[in-house]
Amino acid sequence: MNYRDTLHAIETTTALEIIGIGYEPKGAYLSFPCPNKCENSAVMKIYGDKKNLWYCPKCKKGGNLLKLAMETKGLEWEKTKELLSKCVFRTMVTSHSGAKLPAVPEHGYQ
Ligand SMILES: [Zn+2]
Repeated sequence: MNYRDTLHAIETTTALEIIGIGYEPKGAYLSFPCPNKCENSAVMKIYGDKKNLWYCPKCKKGGNLLKLAMETKGLEWEKTKELLSKCVFRTMVTSHSGAKLPAVPEHGYQ
């Protein structure tokens, strides 16, 4: 898988849990503390073309989940890929097929 496919295959919530970032669901987004430490909340899209891309409306910084994981954990790309392989969908359901991704996590909602 290339970088883009890897990014799209990652389940956002599981990834943030593995990285150790607390988040709050907000519709199609997850809200989490800005990694740029501007004391605002950044948002990350959880599906669609911009899935796993984050943006902070206050400091205007943004990036993607893979880079966020590397910076937060201080890891190289290979290690990051290894770490996040745990949260890649077992069945690759990509935007190519137009199929819907599972909405309910295995452990269910509280
Ligand atoms: Zn910010």
